[in-house]
Amino acid sequence: MRRALRGQGASRGIALGRVRVRHPQALVVDERRIEAEEVPDEIQRLHRALDAARAELHGLRERLHGALAHEVGEFLDLHVMILDDPELLQGLDDLVSTGRYSADYALKLQRDRLASVFEGMHDDYFRSRREDLDHVIGRVHAALHRRGDDGAVGLSGEILVCETIAPSELAELQSQGVVGVVAATGSPLSHSAILARSLHLPLVLGAADILAHANDGDALMMDAASGELVLEPDAADLKRYHRRQAEIGREQAQLSRLRRQPTRTVDGVDIRLYANAESREDVAEAHALGADGIGLYRTEFLFLQRRELPTEDEQFLAYRDLVLGMAGRVVTIRTLDLGADKADHTGLALRSEPNPALGLRGVRLSLAHEPLFLTQLRAILRAAAYGPVRVLVPMVCCREEMLSVLEMVEHARESLRVEGVQAGERVEFGAMIEVPAAALGLPDFIDLVDFVSVGTNDLVQYLLAVDRGHESLATLYTPRHPSVLRLLGELFSYGRRNGIPVAVCGEMAGEAANVPLLLALGLRDFSLHPATLLEVRRAVRESDLASLRRRARSLLRAHDRAGIEAWLAR
Ligand code: PEP
Ligand code: MG
Repeated sequence: MRRALRGQGASRGIALGRVRVRHPQALVVDERRIEAEEVPDEIQRLHRALDAARAELHGLRERLHGALAHEVGEFLDLHVMILDDPELLQGLDDLVSTGRYSADYALKLQRDRLASVFEGMHDDYFRSRREDLDHVIGRVHAALHRRGDDGAVGLSGEILVCETIAPSELAELQSQGVVGVVAATGSPLSHSAILARSLHLPLVLGAADILAHANDGDALMMDAASGELVLEPDAADLKRYHRRQAEIGREQAQLSRLRRQPTRTVDGVDIRLYANAESREDVAEAHALGADGIGLYRTEFLFLQRRELPTEDEQFLAYRDLVLGMAGRVVTIRTLDLGADKADHTGLALRSEPNPALGLRGVRLSLAHEPLFLTQLRAILRAAAYGPVRVLVPMVCCREEMLSVLEMVEHARESLRVEGVQAGERVEFGAMIEVPAAALGLPDFIDLVDFVSVGTNDLVQYLLAVDRGHESLATLYTPRHPSVLRLLGELFSYGRRNGIPVAVCGEMAGEAANVPLLLALGLRDFSLHPATLLEVRRAVRESDLASLRRRARSLLRAHDRAGIEAWLAR
């Protein structure tokens, strides 16, 4: 039966596909005991599911190519190891044949038993493998419930419906043929959302009711921009879907005519559009769309979901590819921005923190792990020998931090010189403005930077004291707040007066609807994901900068969001 639901649109695009449910960690199973005569069939059912899960993992391994093969492959190998673990398998057989538990129930009991073993370990690495165990058990559970007609390996044409989705899973899912992902939790500002946009994978987050209604094999229609979801769509929905698909096609054709056009306002002022990039594909796209350079390369994606830290050479090669990929246009490499919330997925053994957003993250983490930071700085300096590179430091909150960073840079440069390793001569350094104290305190360290880039995703979170990933606070979390706009206006004019370029690289710069607002406040350097670059270019080309600047004062007089929206509507 048709059912309309809603989540938050977290990427772009629309999708229509069959539902594949991944049950939440709690593994909702029918806790059934079976009769003695059912045992042989139940054992057979269990083993068929185990074989199917194994075949899926092997199939996936074979289909992975390039950089993904290395990163995701390690995890797949680990999952195969868990799946083949004799203790797991014997335990399952015993539970079904001796305990007379249904296969589902046995899976859940075995999962709980092993999870408590993992959690009791002192080693952080093993403790964090609990998540992998859940993935493996979830895969077998899904195979137990797959209908006979869809046992094919892979998820081609399916929309994954799940409780939560980690950034590391998205690329794997896409390579399996998944056409969209809907999760019951999460917010559009999460790193999963950022990566989904980068992969052009439709993603809806915070769809709280989805797991209660979606079943394997249901048809699901999703709009990853609006967050609209329709289970078992009817004829009218399908008509709407096809109309929207055609519209998207036409819009893309129109936008692609702007690929070679300048980003120039109606009154002839050139605006710079840099790209935010996470992958090689983003870099190629940024170049093809005529981006002025890379304004934000998030290096943490190199560190996520690996058991070892990337070596200096591995990092150097990735950064060099980036520099070469932009063929002479500037590339801004952000140093590692990880914290305890993401460290579980890396080779960094960090202690968990009660409040990771306010904890050891960004530049604080780099300065606390000098060898790690030095390795990254050396790799960046080496890549800078191949083209123009700027280094961007995340989460700066005071002058002392910038001084320590510059000292480390000198150290890295000197060590390369002593070893006779080639490094870029002229590398610019910039700070991300994400912490309100750094926004207010820019005059205190402006002499130490060549440029700054405002990370509005975090700045908004810290300025408004609203967790950027909190689903139920999503309406409070907005850059369209008078204090945010006033602070941005101050930053842009302070930068201009002091000859320091100020860019915005948070998601707000990638929304075409914000273009008049940012231009009015004085922004000239936008950094945004290539997926919306042409839309933003179109919005700039439709803007009259002089008239927007004249209207800036009335924008800054708005007292609330409604006032800001009303200004935009005019
Ligand atoms: C930001 O905070 O605006 C930003 C660009 O960094 P990230 O989203 O990676 O935290
Ligand atoms: Mg940030």
